[in-house]
Amino acid sequence: MSLRPTVDFLLNDWLGVEALNQRERFADHSRETFDAVLDTCERIAREKYAPFNRTVDTQEPHFDGERVVLPQATHDAHQAYAESGMLSAAQDYRLGGMQLPYTVEAAANAFFAMASVSIGSGMLTVGNANLLMAHGSEAQRRVFALNEFAGRWSGTMCLSEPQAGSSLSDVATRAVPDGEGFMDDPLGPRFRLKGNKMWISAGEHELTENIVHLVLAKIPGPDGKLPPGVKGISLFVVPKKLVDASAQLTGERNDVALAGLNHKCGWRGTTNTLLNFGEGKFPVRGAAGAIGYLVGQPGEGLRCMFHMMNEARIGVGMAATMLGMAGYHASLDYAKNRPQGRPVGPEGKDPSRPQSRIIEHADVKRMLLAQKSYCEGALALELYCARLVDEQHTGAPEAADEARLLLEVLTPIAKSWPSEWCLEANSLAIQVHGGYGYTRDFPVEQYWRDNRLNMIHEGTHGIQAMDLLGRKVLMENGRGLQLLAQRVNATIQRAIHTPELAAHANALGQALAQVGAATKAAWATANPAEALANAVPYLQAFGHTVLAWIWLDVALAALAAPDSPARTGRLGAMRFFFHYELPKTGAWLAVVSRRDPTCAELPEEAF
Ligand SMILES: Cc1cc2nc3c(=O)[nH]c(=O)nc-3n(C[C@H](O)[C@H](O)[C@H](O)COP(=O)(O)OP(=O)(O)OC[C@H]3O[C@@H](n4cnc5c(N)ncnc54)[C@H](O)[C@@H]3O)c2cc1C
Repeated sequence: MSLRPTVDFLLNDWLGVEALNQRERFADHSRETFDAVLDTCERIAREKYAPFNRTVDTQEPHFDGERVVLPQATHDAHQAYAESGMLSAAQDYRLGGMQLPYTVEAAANAFFAMASVSIGSGMLTVGNANLLMAHGSEAQRRVFALNEFAGRWSGTMCLSEPQAGSSLSDVATRAVPDGEGFMDDPLGPRFRLKGNKMWISAGEHELTENIVHLVLAKIPGPDGKLPPGVKGISLFVVPKKLVDASAQLTGERNDVALAGLNHKCGWRGTTNTLLNFGEGKFPVRGAAGAIGYLVGQPGEGLRCMFHMMNEARIGVGMAATMLGMAGYHASLDYAKNRPQGRPVGPEGKDPSRPQSRIIEHADVKRMLLAQKSYCEGALALELYCARLVDEQHTGAPEAADEARLLLEVLTPIAKSWPSEWCLEANSLAIQVHGGYGYTRDFPVEQYWRDNRLNMIHEGTHGIQAMDLLGRKVLMENGRGLQLLAQRVNATIQRAIHTPELAAHANALGQALAQVGAATKAAWATANPAEALANAVPYLQAFGHTVLAWIWLDVALAALAAPDSPARTGRLGAMRFFFHYELPKTGAWLAVVSRRDPTCAELPEEAF
């Protein structure tokens, strides 16, 4: 079974992505060039990633005392990915890029996430380089970003610290000016950093010649104290090996040391590290302290980091989606081949009758259809959000602004919804396999372990929920929520006149009204502690409503296509979502609307 027909349908029949080539930036592109990119990525993923997914799980990265060792397959996959040009696919021609729409880039990267999410396809490196393109100086862009796009160096994001995960305002890494003349360094104002960064993905390896760390740190005030809160956070580019202004290695090692590798539940193909900055293991010019160059203005670090958050969070949502999809495809294949049991009813009582294949049982079909509705729905959502990113960057001013605001509201869903529901899909994929699914002889347990990360990193589920209800639906006087409601209503209006969809259109209209009412009820007392006590059920209900909208819109495109098994499947998955999933929103929104204090008020000693 291939993912490609689903991707092609969503990109072409549903999103009409080819129309983007009417824009100046994408004028050289066509359906053929988009297809060629997808073909290449599909092939590399099939040849260099999929066969090694189990290898990278069982041969965990290890430190041999000098360097971190990864399987050869990881090196080969990275090389093939870099050579494909995908790291710079979205960049200008003048920078060696392809000026590819982000929608197509995201779709192409989906093949790698499905084949082996943890071998990785440069998400951090591209995010790091994009940030430098937006906020770095000319020299930082030329020296660091361009070499990352070229695949010569790779990138990290160093936000978290052992004592500062969700609460980044408590970051304690210090950055002090590096002597006299620190402002005159060609690579930017030069500082010395000291501190510990925890959980840093791809923080140490030998896959590339150098590693470019982007590090959040605070510059102490005249009293020597670190400024409080997020406004005191600045951003620094800290290379593992020092380089000069012409991007040549100087031969000096920067004072960034691997303190240890974290041994993870899944996603083991990517190293995860505790890094010590500036502890003197690799003194630079005779002194402890990692050399870092300020990016942007002091105190603007988190704002710069957030520049890349939308795309990073779509990337996380896409990874979660494709892990779910991998489990769906594996369990569908298994269900078609596993004989077990006989039909319900008199004919099934005859033991001489051959056994049914488990796909013939209604409950197995339920588990398969749930996976299909979660994963193909999530893929549609991610591609829709990616299309909004293209609109934000290349649309007419009003449309670009709408896309920006819609993305603000939809990004917590794009990140969190697949993290929760495509993980649930992975659990169902194990269930479809029965006991075999619980062994390492089948791939589905690894997909679940790999996917379990996605509710945790890039802002936990709880933090995303508070961002949605506490900030996003309120911002600009609720204009983002109104814009989303307009789009949902436009789909409802198109569907209401279609006999197969009219009842679902009505159900969606009701769910949307309930989300709006619950938003108001949550904030009725204007007390954040009351409003946000049930932020996660709100996120779940909001997400399910968004997914119901996406499915209804996809169903309109499916109905316009000729009859085929794929069309029947899409409409079946849509119906599943409306019949089995959307009704759940009522229970979630009830506790939100009541500002239910059951959890918030239970005293600690009562647990
Ligand atoms: C495999 C992996 C890779 C990672 N990669 C990177 C990386 O490359 N770079 C990087 O900087 N970080 C990375 N992280 C760190 C990740 O972003 C953090 O783990 C995450 O932000 C949560 O922080 P924490 O682990 O300290 O948990 P905590 O912040 O301690 O949270 C623990 C629990 O408490 C909840 N909680 C915390 N605060 C609140 C609150 N105010 N209200 C309600 N609930 C709250 C959380 O939702 C969570 O359920 C990675 C983590 C992992 C596991």
